[in-house]
Amino acid sequence: MEPLSFSDLKNKVCVITGGAGVLGTAMVKAIASVGTKIAIADINKEVADKVAAEIAAESGAEVIGIEANVLDKASLEKAKVEINEKLGEIDILINGAGGNSPQATTKVEVMTEENMDKLEDTFYGLEMEGFDKVFALNFKGTLLPTMVFTTDMLKNKKGVVLNVSSMNSYKPLTKIPAYSAAKASINNFTEWLSVHLAKVGIRVNAIAPGFFITHQNRFLVMDEKTGNYSPRGQKIVDNTPMGKFGEPEDLQGATLFLISDVSNFITGIVIPVDGGYSAFGGV
Ligand code: NAD
Repeated sequence: MEPLSFSDLKNKVCVITGGAGVLGTAMVKAIASVGTKIAIADINKEVADKVAAEIAAESGAEVIGIEANVLDKASLEKAKVEINEKLGEIDILINGAGGNSPQATTKVEVMTEENMDKLEDTFYGLEMEGFDKVFALNFKGTLLPTMVFTTDMLKNKKGVVLNVSSMNSYKPLTKIPAYSAAKASINNFTEWLSVHLAKVGIRVNAIAPGFFITHQNRFLVMDEKTGNYSPRGQKIVDNTPMGKFGEPEDLQGATLFLISDVSNFITGIVIPVDGGYSAFGGV
């Protein structure tokens, strides 16, 4: 038998939404390393172009930046036309765009008799605008690109979707109810869609990253003044059996595994990449 490899990914076409972000960039590097053609579909075209140019130069793979808003179907359809023209039919979709926002974050972790008269710091003070924004970005921002970017796969009766979930999907973290609910919906949607598409050759899976220090959570896990972990950041490390935050590169193996034919009998699963966080009961 030939040694197993990711060679089936060579010259395939992969679209990754939010691919210009911290975790997305690490995933793009891994995928480019096996010769896949990649479109980084991101709302921030300037950064998408920059990341694409750097990774293309480093890997020799064809990597392009494309402007797309995952919440706007017309923008995604326009992006698809451009990707088809520049790279060909789409074989793989990674739904990487997502994140939390301070506007959808409570100031206190739990309500107590001491803080219950400051309702603005609690669940009761959350503005619907922030809640809607975060829920939409994570849920609708996965749903719409999947509708638009999988039609070539349908035609070819072969393709892969990889969603990006989170630890919050299993057990919600305090303070971030919109993000937690939205990521739980990603696991549910991953299972639902995997069943819906199983007989037409499209596999649908997800990865659930543990904790990585990135733009969207730095304000929660680091103390800006001292540069040390915040009490919340320290709690995360204490509850991660491997005793550390992850490095974005730690997502690369699971990503390649799930998008390649190596996993061709696997659909509807969510793989945690979390240093053991989701396995630990806290004691
Ligand atoms: P990031 O903020 O670095 O990157 C997100 C990217 O998405 C950015 O390039 C941004 O421009 C793009 N984006 C935002 N809104 C968009 C829109 N409407 N349309 C298109 N693109 C848009 O985030 P990250 O930390 O790399 O996170 C990537 C994914 O991983 C997200 O789904 C996030 O929820 C998830 N995640 C992150 C962590 C973590 O610890 N950072 C943990 C678990 C899951």
